Amino acid sequence: MPVKNRFAELLPEITEWRRDLHENPEILFETHRTSALVEEKLKAFGCDEVVTGIGRTGVVGVIRGKTDTSGKVIGLRADMDALPIHEQTGLDYASKTPGAMHACGHDGHTAMLLGAAKYLAETRNFDGTAIIIFQPAEEGGGGGREMCEDGMMEKFGIQEVYGMHNWPGIPLGQFAIRPGAFFAATDQFEIKVVGRGGHGAKPHQTVDPVVASAHMVSALQSIASRNADPVDEIVVSVTSIESSSKAFNVIPAFVTLRGTIRTMTKAARELAETRLKAIATGAAATFDAEAEIKWLPGYPAMVNSEEQTAFAASVAEKVAGSCEANAPITMGGEDFAYMLEERPGAYILVGNGDSADVHNPNYNFNDEAIPAGCSWWAGIIEERMPAA
Ligand SMILES: [Zn+2]
Ligand SMILES: [Zn+2]
Repeated sequence: MPVKNRFAELLPEITEWRRDLHENPEILFETHRTSALVEEKLKAFGCDEVVTGIGRTGVVGVIRGKTDTSGKVIGLRADMDALPIHEQTGLDYASKTPGAMHACGHDGHTAMLLGAAKYLAETRNFDGTAIIIFQPAEEGGGGGREMCEDGMMEKFGIQEVYGMHNWPGIPLGQFAIRPGAFFAATDQFEIKVVGRGGHGAKPHQTVDPVVASAHMVSALQSIASRNADPVDEIVVSVTSIESSSKAFNVIPAFVTLRGTIRTMTKAARELAETRLKAIATGAAATFDAEAEIKWLPGYPAMVNSEEQTAFAASVAEKVAGSCEANAPITMGGEDFAYMLEERPGAYILVGNGDSADVHNPNYNFNDEAIPAGCSWWAGIIEERMPAA
């Protein structure tokens, strides 16, 4: 089963959808036009059911196979949202919305899953039920979590879920995956270091939150270097330091630190939170200041199930001739993690070739990856639930 011929035929049409989506990006849960377009297409394809309003603007299509003796129900999920980035590609189908751009290729993901849905509804060459999931707000809004909280898994009886992301740097149309933790938990923190402001020339009459903050930033590095197991992946980045005063000669009343912590396991995640709070409190106390700490939980780590990952890799291998089955971990986040917390499944990367990186204003999804991506989606359904 190399690339399915039908997708070579459908390529111009799917490319047209992709470019239309690219021209009309929508952010977070505001995917109103996109969701309406997805709904309309799924209905036109002849899906047995199309349900909207799951996870606010999420859309789900149901496609029943020719038979259902297996009783199997498999979910395929794509994300639909764009990013608050001003596009600089100069493409003739570049974003028409200033400050919004499909810079992560979710336009490609949506178009590829629509293509697979069209094919599956046409052929129905499987024994079971395919659930086609389109989620909003992958980029920081937790759309996947909201779809789960709306009871999607139970409502449709989903037993396994699969996801895909395009990946710049992987050869075009090739695949990469790994079992176990693949994408990181993405927690954030904000620490307000509160001192007592005063004249820059009379430091002895103040409690200087700048000096306390400087020590705190250094000390926080010891979470990764001294607290975490050296073989565990962890990132601690203080990304913003903001003083309550901009003056040259004023010791400010407080300083705000912000940053992100990336971990791959629950244990590392808990350790990072505990140590962050202890270090920030202790460093502030050393200088008579106080630390007001906000821990802002993000997406959990995305963990691929062993069996489903091996299966997903075998399908990819048939489509592309080979599959990198031990892809490197990424410290980025992915809210498909919530779906994988509820059901076994796997998330795969499909090569976007030698392109600008995702989240870059010059990035563009490569339409030549469409036949491979669609074939993988269709293969998951046809091979996991073979026709009786
Ligand atoms: Zn992204
Ligand atoms: Zn993305």
